[in-house]
Amino acid sequence: MQSGKMRKQGLSGKRHAGHGGGHGAVRVTTEREVRVGVFRQPAMQTPVLVLNASYEPINICGARRALVLVLKGVARTEEEQGAVLHAARMRVAMPSVIRLLEYRRIPHQTRALSRKNILLRDRNSCQYCSVILTAGELTLDHVIPRSRGGLSTWENLVACCHNCNRRKGNQMLHELTDMKLQREPRPFSLHTSRHIMRMIGSADAAWRKYLYFEAEPAA
Ligand SMILES: [Zn+2]
Repeated sequence: MQSGKMRKQGLSGKRHAGHGGGHGAVRVTTEREVRVGVFRQPAMQTPVLVLNASYEPINICGARRALVLVLKGVARTEEEQGAVLHAARMRVAMPSVIRLLEYRRIPHQTRALSRKNILLRDRNSCQYCSVILTAGELTLDHVIPRSRGGLSTWENLVACCHNCNRRKGNQMLHELTDMKLQREPRPFSLHTSRHIMRMIGSADAAWRKYLYFEAEPAA
């Protein structure tokens, strides 16, 4: 295997011509056919870790999307789930980790503001009393209440238990003596992103070597 070492000039947007055959290597019909064949399988929703060409973890996507990237020759499977997909005239090992064949420059990673992502950022822990609950037992609290002009932003939304949410009501934090935030809510950073990948990937041993950098040489 020829693993191209990433150098700085590789980031400039210029890319080396791919070695011939990269795209034709996987003989699969069409993306459409793949989608039709696999759409309803539950394994399709399994999270897949996406690595940059440099092996740096950059994202998580659903197995269906990962499979499409592999079948299109954009990525290759680094680790398999163990499940094999049988679709029209096709047997494909379901990926657990894929790697992009060409290095992609990743801009500031922004994640969609969603209930799920807020809970992940806050580690399913009420940001006022620190109790850890399941996602279903938590709600989102606007730190500055909406009725007082608070916006739905990363900085103004936190995971919150129903008790704290009731107690806080429409009050501002500075009006309350017995409630305060455990930590300042922040938007996603690369660090948070890694943290989330670790949380999601903790169930999948195959991800660990990509998410924890035990063997990382001193920079
Ligand atoms: Zn609470």
